[in-house]
Amino acid sequence: QRRQDLADATLPAVTRDGVRVQLAANIGSPGEWENARALGAEGVGLFRSEFLFMGRDAFPSEEEQFAAYRQAAEGCGGHLCVIRTLDIGGDKPLAHLAIGHEDNPFLGWRAIRISLERTDLFRTQLKAILRAGCYGKVAVMLPMVISAGEIRQARAILTEATEELARERREFAADVPVGIMVETPAAAATASLLAPACDFFSIGTNDLVQYTLAVDRGNPKVAPLYSHFHPAVLRLIDATIQAARQQGIWVGMCGEMAGDPLAAPLLVGMGIDELSMSAPSIPQVKAVIRNLSICEAQEMREAALAMDDAAAVRAYLEKWRRSAA
Ligand code: PEP
Ligand code: MG
Repeated sequence: QRRQDLADATLPAVTRDGVRVQLAANIGSPGEWENARALGAEGVGLFRSEFLFMGRDAFPSEEEQFAAYRQAAEGCGGHLCVIRTLDIGGDKPLAHLAIGHEDNPFLGWRAIRISLERTDLFRTQLKAILRAGCYGKVAVMLPMVISAGEIRQARAILTEATEELARERREFAADVPVGIMVETPAAAATASLLAPACDFFSIGTNDLVQYTLAVDRGNPKVAPLYSHFHPAVLRLIDATIQAARQQGIWVGMCGEMAGDPLAAPLLVGMGIDELSMSAPSIPQVKAVIRNLSICEAQEMREAALAMDDAAAVRAYLEKWRRSAA
């Protein structure tokens, strides 16, 4: 079965009745793209840029960032490369940025909150991304957003970045799409209010599950409570997807749930446009989608959304998978 999945890597992820889903890869450095492409990735749905910033004692320069983003954009060869702006804080401290002690780092100064205060760092990063946009299709993705005001502020800084580049007579892409990670309950619950400020959404289930269920994603003691099939999580995901579709922006997912073959029929039934995952998961998720019809996916969505318990949802999806195999 797995060997067959690999042989099918170049086939599109399309349901039996013709609905196409984009399967993309999560990468942490440009060098990871080649392997992802071999496994069937159609672009990068999440480039975690923080890996450029970690494990060193100074911030990377605009040139250094530009080189990395350009390599990723060029590599994707016509496919979209979604570059997430700096997502540090929480479980990802930076030695050269004094965050200071926080009682609750996951509820503290992290991600977009840092970028909107350290606008110097943010502008540098945005300039590097805009310049890379001349070498491929790139998009900017903002992490940990909770309000439309943050998106508007980020867009204002993006405008400043373009103005600076124009003054410096640099080449840059003027039309880079801007989207957000929907990874806080606040963003999911207000998706219809955020969509007008966005070109796309990407649902980050790793944090969305943690914040919705109040369950630390890294604490083994509470790991049994951590499930992307919890009814609260499923409802937030569904509401986010419906809001995006109603307002005509594309919506993807880049948390671990996107690479879970059990979840794929549910997400397709909800109307997801793109799934971005760690590359080794792509062949099996693709095989599930190619074996699915939209009708049955929509029925599964309805059935799962009516269940009051994560274990029941999982059992239901496992049963379907066995019967479809
Ligand atoms: C997420 O939160 O789902 C996500 C993809 O981001 P990270 O795992 O890097 O926090
Ligand atoms: Mg996250």
